[in-house]
Amino acid sequence: MSATILDGTRIAQQIRTEVAAEVQALAANGLCPGLAVVLVGHNPASEIYVRGKVKACEEVAIYSEKLTPSESSTTEDLLALIDSLNRRDEIDGILVQLPLPPQVDAKKVLLAVDPAKDVDGFHPMNVGFLSTQRPGLVPCTPAGVMEILHRSQIPVAGQETVVVGRSDIVGKPVAMLLTNANATVTICHSKTRNLAEVCRRADILVAAIGRAGMITRNFVKPGAVVIDVGMNTVTDPAEFARFFASAGNEKREETFRKKGSVLIGDVHPEVAEVAGALTPVPGGVGPLTIAMLMFNTVKAAKLRRGSRELARV
Ligand code: NAP
Repeated sequence: MSATILDGTRIAQQIRTEVAAEVQALAANGLCPGLAVVLVGHNPASEIYVRGKVKACEEVAIYSEKLTPSESSTTEDLLALIDSLNRRDEIDGILVQLPLPPQVDAKKVLLAVDPAKDVDGFHPMNVGFLSTQRPGLVPCTPAGVMEILHRSQIPVAGQETVVVGRSDIVGKPVAMLLTNANATVTICHSKTRNLAEVCRRADILVAAIGRAGMITRNFVKPGAVVIDVGMNTVTDPAEFARFFASAGNEKREETFRKKGSVLIGDVHPEVAEVAGALTPVPGGVGPLTIAMLMFNTVKAAKLRRGSRELARV
């Protein structure tokens, strides 16, 4: 058996097209959603992520503004910047790209973002809205996981689901969204006993661990849906061979030869032989994250103006 591949790139494109249509409809009423992205210093990975976010805004005609305070910024400098963005009516979403430099109190800065503009959904107010099922802003990657399930017609209500990972940005919100969707949810972490056995109970298994290929076939009930949130870079040829020794990996081999690295999820490629459906890495959950950021920016624009019809997540 070979798993159905859940094409995140296609689903993300669908969402972006819907968001673009929504932005156009808002423009007809004189409203242009705006996103401010705060990028502190020169972290190369952060610069790539921010470039992708700004480009995605352009594609769906969301106004975007990139703010680049220096690497030496203090907590107070950033609090002042956030305060100014909170006050600007044309800015609907504020995204502070993490990580922040070590001298900055990141929690204090994130807490200062107006919850109504918190398009990352990390503010405790939005965490509370999610857990009490009130309209609010939901973290992008977890929201993307739910979109993949929903748009792939995978039933969630009543299903046995296991989430491996309990971070504030992925594991916990995914578990909360699944609970709100009436799944039976087990959350696992590094202290969970008999992890493989617990995972094998899952009809839907979500891996958000940050460990390359940790979820092997032994963790997966035959036919289960497996959602791989992990994004890990493999640079060691021996490790590459361990994951991609079998036939059918010629494209990856070429990438590895050219770039010296490939991206791999938390799920071992061999899981495709037992799972019923599987998100690939790359091209699974990853593309949904930016699509949901666009969705959240439009949602924030509408929620801030009292129009709640888009608040469906
Ligand atoms: P994180 O904050 O490091 O959390 C990892 C979680 O996995 C923790 O709860 C940890 O348990 C658990 N864990 C670690 N080792 C384990 C083990 N051996 N057995 C069981 N559980 C274990 O990571 P994160 O921010 O949630 O991200 C998780 C993965 O998703 C990463 O690969 C990240 O790059 C990826 N990610 C992808 C996207 C995307 O757009 N696709 C977005 C965000 C994150 P403890 O709590 O006990 O330490």
